[in-house]
Amino acid sequence: MSLLAQLVTAVATGSVEVVDLTAPLSQQTPVLRLPEPFANTVHFSLRELSRYDERGPAWYWNDIVTGEHTGTHFDAPIHWVTGRNGDDVSQVAPQRLVAPAVVLDATTMAAADPDFLLQVDHVQEWTKTHGALPEGGWLLYRTGWDARSDDENDFLNADETGSHTPGISSECARWLATETPLIGVGVETVGTDAGAAHGFDPPFPCHAFLLGAGKYGLTQLRNLDRLPPQGAVVIAAPLPIVGGSGSPTRVLALVER
Ligand code: MN
Repeated sequence: MSLLAQLVTAVATGSVEVVDLTAPLSQQTPVLRLPEPFANTVHFSLRELSRYDERGPAWYWNDIVTGEHTGTHFDAPIHWVTGRNGDDVSQVAPQRLVAPAVVLDATTMAAADPDFLLQVDHVQEWTKTHGALPEGGWLLYRTGWDARSDDENDFLNADETGSHTPGISSECARWLATETPLIGVGVETVGTDAGAAHGFDPPFPCHAFLLGAGKYGLTQLRNLDRLPPQGAVVIAAPLPIVGGSGSPTRVLALVER
């Protein structure tokens, strides 16, 4: 049997499970909220064109209104000033959209401290137990934040000092970008950086270092608890928006059972 025939059989019989890591896209999907004077993105919405009525008697369809960085989405290198000469989202090679993924679970730490930051030591500790970070693969950073994703206030967790959501330290972001074979980092939060990352050096280090290195970001993932620490394969399919800095993305994981 060919490799692909084996895969089809494995999916059909459930020995390979397809796990959806994507948050549903609706008006309620949380979006990033930047302070003045920065521009903000819109919430996702549908604009109905017809629904079996005089505007279209036999068909239902909508226009969609969305930001590139709304819901589960893909950050292309060009999204950040450090990657401004890099690929836009339509230029990312399709081969790179199918990749191995490992899951680092920091749920306990993030529950104790919403400003928890992943450090190089945490990742190196993980590799001692689970093996090396995958060549051309994703580090999926689980924080339990997906449990909050049905409520924007809970998800953004902001007070008068700003948003308090877990992320990655500046040094760890630099290390992941420049000293590991990863293709990118995926998170459960609204963006790849911590809520307080505007105050880091450099600001938004995940964006600055990873996108500057030609790597990618995936955000607002869910169901990471259904993946093994290593061994999953992720299919991330952003829309090929020409010139786009990112795109809402369907992210699926293949997991052997
Ligand atoms: Mn983004």
